[in-house]
Amino acid sequence: MSKQIPQNQGIGMTSDRTRDRLIKRLKEQGIRSNLVLDQIRNIPRHLFVDEALATRAYEDTALPIGLGQTISQPFIVAKMTEALINSVDGDRILEVGTGCGYQTAILSSFFKEIYTIERIRSLLLKTKQRLRTMNIYNVHFRHGDGWEGWSKYGLYNGIIVAAAASELPSNLLEQLDIGGVLIIPIGAPGEQELTLVKRNHDHYESKNLGSVSFVPLVKEK
Ligand code: SAH
Repeated sequence: MSKQIPQNQGIGMTSDRTRDRLIKRLKEQGIRSNLVLDQIRNIPRHLFVDEALATRAYEDTALPIGLGQTISQPFIVAKMTEALINSVDGDRILEVGTGCGYQTAILSSFFKEIYTIERIRSLLLKTKQRLRTMNIYNVHFRHGDGWEGWSKYGLYNGIIVAAAASELPSNLLEQLDIGGVLIIPIGAPGEQELTLVKRNHDHYESKNLGSVSFVPLVKEK
């Protein structure tokens, strides 16, 4: 990626060598897209976690970010991003579950407009600032309930959900453009499946992308 992201120069466990190790691991696990791998190398994941955890930021693991939430595992972010760029034709993306904004930052260089929703306001405000300091400006933030989506700016070419839903959210299906795809973990803890749903002219088709483990997509009502 050509975009310069300030890195707050990493040393030791946040260095280039540590990042290369992560990229090698992602390749071994089946991530093929060099665009995605380059973007994972370019985005400083250590700036998305507390300083105390910075030395673990380039391990391929989810980490706590406070308020009972986590930063997603790099492999899962890579897999979802790869699936999205391989199947989406268009530039308008809705993300549900902003969290610390790591996935948002990864997506930001692949799509023109990213709309992102988070239910925890304090997390959202911190993330908004973080992405600004990284010179990422094509993200629109909403404090709200992801089950409802964000109809004002739809239809979307792609919708990506970073929390597991008990069932397919009908509002998100409705906010998909024809030809658009929704990538979402579905199921109860311990039995979640990453699901890709494509909206065709007269029907939706879905595909299973494998087992995953996400925090729940909270139902407010
Ligand atoms: N995308 C993040 C991971 C986020 S974890 C990353 O890149 O690391 C999932 C996030 O979904 C949490 O921040 C949680 O607060 C949020 N969330 C859970 N239920 C939600 C809902 N109904 N609406 C919006 N956000 C929700």
